[in-house]
Amino acid sequence: MIAGSGIALAIFIFVGVLSFQTMVQNGEDRAWVTHTHLVIEKLDTVLANLLDAETGQRGYILAGEQSELEPYNEALAHVHQNVSDLRALTADNATQQRALDRLEPFIAKMLATLQERIAIRDRDGLDAAAEEVRKGAAELHMQEIRAGIGGMRQEENRLMLIRTEHSEASSRKTTVMIVTAGCLAVVFLGLAAVFLGQRLEQRQRSEEIRRLNIDLERRVSERTAQLSERAKELERSNADLQQFAYVASHDLQEPLRMVASFTQLLAKRYGDKLDNDAREFIDYAVDGATRMQTLISDLLDYSRVGAQGNSLKRTECQDLFDRVLLSLKIIIEESKAVITHDPLPVVLADPLQLGQLFQNLLANAIKFKSEAPPRIKISVEESGSDWKFSFYDNGIGIAPEHADRIFIIFQRLHSRTEYPGTGIGLAICKKIVERHGGRIWVEPSPEGGSAFCFTIPAVPVQTQEEREQNELRIPVTAH
Ligand code: ADP
Repeated sequence: MIAGSGIALAIFIFVGVLSFQTMVQNGEDRAWVTHTHLVIEKLDTVLANLLDAETGQRGYILAGEQSELEPYNEALAHVHQNVSDLRALTADNATQQRALDRLEPFIAKMLATLQERIAIRDRDGLDAAAEEVRKGAAELHMQEIRAGIGGMRQEENRLMLIRTEHSEASSRKTTVMIVTAGCLAVVFLGLAAVFLGQRLEQRQRSEEIRRLNIDLERRVSERTAQLSERAKELERSNADLQQFAYVASHDLQEPLRMVASFTQLLAKRYGDKLDNDAREFIDYAVDGATRMQTLISDLLDYSRVGAQGNSLKRTECQDLFDRVLLSLKIIIEESKAVITHDPLPVVLADPLQLGQLFQNLLANAIKFKSEAPPRIKISVEESGSDWKFSFYDNGIGIAPEHADRIFIIFQRLHSRTEYPGTGIGLAICKKIVERHGGRIWVEPSPEGGSAFCFTIPAVPVQTQEEREQNELRIPVTAH
């Protein structure tokens, strides 16, 4: 747009300069044409002077009256001045100067002849003067003068023609250039106007987008504020619920223990006094109470993860894993399970919870075994800023459509008669992993079973010695 306006402005300036130059040129051309007219006029005046002088002289010779000499005297008084004007006017033209050089002697001779005749008329009378006139010397000079002036006129006419043509040609050229440049300027101005229009439209559009953005940002921040308020509410109600679950399951334990132990006492003391049906009913009651105890204890474990977790600290996974293997020693031996693992890292964790996570996953891998003895492999790798643990087993596997469901509390894929359990173990695992800032999921294992994977942030962890050394390095200033 700026380029277009700039070009249009440059063209306008060019047209202005051109017009000015043309005006100056035309002025000069006109001055020359005028000058030519002046020269021609002067030539005519000189000729008229000479004719007047001759007419005056003739009148005097015929009438002998002094008054007849007036045109002669008048012409004589001006002719020299006019001739010298002529010389000055044609000073720039060598041809005319040469013609004037040739003309002047004839003028002088002509005037001398006229003067001679007047003197003869005065001295010798009319007849002698008439005789002199009849000789025709002055007429001969006059012929030369006419021819000379005619030549000079022709030269001036020729110059006038050239100058007029030159002036017209330059006018024509300038007109063409002005018209062309004007058209170009109009085109560039038009283009600049189009660009300006586009820029305006663009600006309006970006203004509109900016307004929409501001509106969107406002709505997003309003929505974010609402969401964070909802999140806080949710957090509060979660904490309340957790507290409630903890208190409820904790407080339920005691009456339940009483129900179970007194029912067992009843069976023990009065078993022989009861009939078979009564003993069977008591067995059911004991079984129900025991199951409820397990359920409540699992529920308590679950609610403890959030409510009673220890702070995270430097945890040697290898030590933790060894302890878990020890506590699972019996079922490992019974099932003939083979467990292998990669070198285990040191992480920042709640050791009790991380141990429970390892234990739940290992116990499940053994519990949900297939026909073959369980083969469990634990791989550990760094994935971005996390450690990724994968527990591969060769068990019964999990259909992909149940992959999410199994991490929800009380969700089980089998009946208790097939596989015992409460359906809380994986929910606890998920809660523990999330508390440590990771995520957990299940995928099919290449060996046909399942692979339970979870991540845990790989933060740099200092040993106690490193910490002590660092503390020693910090200079302590006493105040
Ligand atoms: P529970 O073991 O008490 O049933 P969990 O929460 O530990 O409860 O497991 C939920 C369900 O996920 C189990 O009932 C089982 O169907 C399935 N599951 C868990 N671990 C495995 C595994 N390693 N292989 C196959 N299925 C499993």
